[in-house]
Amino acid sequence: ELDRLKDEFVAVASHELRTPLAAVYGAAITLRQQDLDTKARDSMLDLIFHQSDRLARIVNDVLWASQLESGRLGTTIEKCDGVELADEVLVEARARLPDGASLELVASGSVPAVEADVEKLRRVLVNLVDNAVKYSPEGGRIRVEIEPADGHVRFAVQDEGLGIPASEQERIFDKFHRLDPNLQRGVSGTGLGLYICRELVLQMNGRIWVESELGAGATFSFELPVAD
Ligand code: ADP
Repeated sequence: ELDRLKDEFVAVASHELRTPLAAVYGAAITLRQQDLDTKARDSMLDLIFHQSDRLARIVNDVLWASQLESGRLGTTIEKCDGVELADEVLVEARARLPDGASLELVASGSVPAVEADVEKLRRVLVNLVDNAVKYSPEGGRIRVEIEPADGHVRFAVQDEGLGIPASEQERIFDKFHRLDPNLQRGVSGTGLGLYICRELVLQMNGRIWVESELGAGATFSFELPVAD
């Protein structure tokens, strides 16, 4: 089973890398023409921006996954302000939000600090917010809610996308597992993002899960221990 998954991964990853690379290359060739008008230039630059961003994400996922695999990833647990960190992640994510989509942070003033590894917590939030953006319809609303929950702090990322069938809600956290393409709006990916989230949350002594109804969006939640 794992061998089959690995072969599939090599195929997906090489396709995933090739497509944006070809797009960037094509855009660069077009930009070399002297007679392009401003509009055409802007759209080529936009394409280069988005496709290199996509490449960087794939490379990031592969690096995190291979570090997890090798057991080389140390964990530095310290007291972190989850709300402040989420705010930083959202500011970055808003910069590449599709037109009409919105991304809001909801947190009461009294959310306690958590025990976490800052870089790991940042990665989990980035991956969940990225997915919410990727798998939402245009103009979808995304909410990140942070609240105290019985000795823990709960982070929830809620979208209005296509949702995830009950039978798949555990498996999507497995390495390389992706839903049927019909349930993905044709969005591509490596199937590593949620696997990375699950492993990182476990390393920080937390838990992660999804609640969703098909066609009615998904809410990915995770909890981390409160720092004292
Ligand atoms: P990737 O997005 O690279 O495929 P992930 O591990 O992040 O990998 O996600 C695994 C699969 O779970 C995705 O391929 C997609 O089918 C599904 N999925 C993840 N997040 C969402 C979401 N917010 N809404 C609907 N489906 C999702």
